[in-house]
Amino acid sequence: MSSKLDRSVDLIIPVFNEEGVVEKTHTRICSIVDGLPYDFHFLYVDDGSRDGTADSLRAISSSDGRVSVLSLSRNFGHQAALTAGMDASSGDVVITMDADGQHPPEMIPQMLDLVQQGYDVVQTQRMDAAQPASFKKWTSGMFYRLINAISGTRVLPGTADFRALSRQAVDALKQMPEYHRFLRGMVSWIGYPMVILPYQPAERISGQSKYSLVKMIGLAMDAIFSFSLVPLYIGLSLGGILFCLAALEMIYVLSFWVTGRTSNLAPGWSSLMFVILIVGGMLMALLGFIGVYVGYIFQEVKRRPVYLVKGEKHDDGQQ
Ligand code: UDP
Ligand code: MG
Repeated sequence: MSSKLDRSVDLIIPVFNEEGVVEKTHTRICSIVDGLPYDFHFLYVDDGSRDGTADSLRAISSSDGRVSVLSLSRNFGHQAALTAGMDASSGDVVITMDADGQHPPEMIPQMLDLVQQGYDVVQTQRMDAAQPASFKKWTSGMFYRLINAISGTRVLPGTADFRALSRQAVDALKQMPEYHRFLRGMVSWIGYPMVILPYQPAERISGQSKYSLVKMIGLAMDAIFSFSLVPLYIGLSLGGILFCLAALEMIYVLSFWVTGRTSNLAPGWSSLMFVILIVGGMLMALLGFIGVYVGYIFQEVKRRPVYLVKGEKHDDGQQ
């Protein structure tokens, strides 16, 4: 087993318009990691910032030799910036965290201990209960309920993109080249040993959230449509419901015939209703079938690996 000292740790920090903030975050992180027996490397991913962030990052990297900066050509979004960082990383352990000071660096030592104990994913979870009620908290709660109801991949409420990943977990994520990325779902999907660490989010150092409502909706859509085919099966279910209604209507009309009350039926109603329900049902069922094919095509084009290996067992019993 390798000793702590020869383990390198990459800190991946996506940054979008965080001038004046990122310097403080860097100092805070350094005050925690400087004493730790790991070889740290900082990778700031500038996600197309339009303020003075590039200058801030230049200043940080010229004063600290452990810092690299990766600049994206435009604003691609938080998940893309994290992906760019992970693709460029080479450390034994990768820690991703926000640049705004909301993710407490004080947790890094504990996260690294847990990776050292054999966990591939150390996932932090925001303790929302203590937070005051807000629009963001309410919509986030609804989102997690929905995604867990319709997706086979479990995503814990309040999980953040503040996590430590072993090299094995990062390599697994790199095998998932899908365009619409929801990393909280993806780290669950890869299935390697994961541990949850609750944390109390701090206030933003300064500035405003860079997650606009449009970006939040985009992330929720990426999560729902990348991790669930349920929306595509709605047509099939509606088709089934319409066929059932057509059968009920037939029974209803037959009951008039059996009891000899056909004169009570409005002329033409029975056949018209029947045709509407059957045709509606057929259209919905056909849409549903197309939906299933689209779903299968979607799964293929995502190019997710068919399986991931945890370890190989050799004859001598060693892993
Ligand atoms: N961020 C980014 N690209 C974006 C939006 C945000 O790289 O398009 C970064 C941002 O600078 C921060 C992190 O992602 O480091 C989380 O964003 P933010 O703090 O604004 O989100 P919130 O905490 O409000 O959910
Ligand atoms: Mg934040």
